[in-house]
Amino acid sequence: MPEYKGHCHCGQIAWTADIPEEKHILCHCGACKLQGGGEFTLNQIIPKSNFHLTKGDLKVYTYKGDSGNTVDCFMCPNCGSSPYHHQHVMGDDKIVIRTGLLEGSDKWGKPAAEIYDKERPSWLPQTGENSFPEVPPS
Ligand SMILES: [Zn+2]
Ligand SMILES: [Zn+2]
Repeated sequence: MPEYKGHCHCGQIAWTADIPEEKHILCHCGACKLQGGGEFTLNQIIPKSNFHLTKGDLKVYTYKGDSGNTVDCFMCPNCGSSPYHHQHVMGDDKIVIRTGLLEGSDKWGKPAAEIYDKERPSWLPQTGENSFPEVPPS
């Protein structure tokens, strides 16, 4: 399984992650926009044990997700870059990693899926292989 490296903007935090499949899930939800200041984020769900913090300590910010369940957002305490978040609704052993922060992930090609597409602005074309108004049916 390929290992990818990531680091925050200020350099205080660094990590590696074992990525099962080299693909992005693009998310247009309101939380992603507020956290990143951009129109979307790139993500993937991976086992928590695939993530390894190699430098620094993360700060946790907790908010309530759409489902009403709590979400822990892990971030650099200095610059706010966020390597991953943990949705409690998924159980304890899965995290959502920001694939856009992994070095070399820009070469993965277009996103496998685009979620919260109902919140995509009209000026931005749809880019995912699949698109869902919210999340895929489980
Ligand atoms: Zn930082
Ligand atoms: Zn989102």
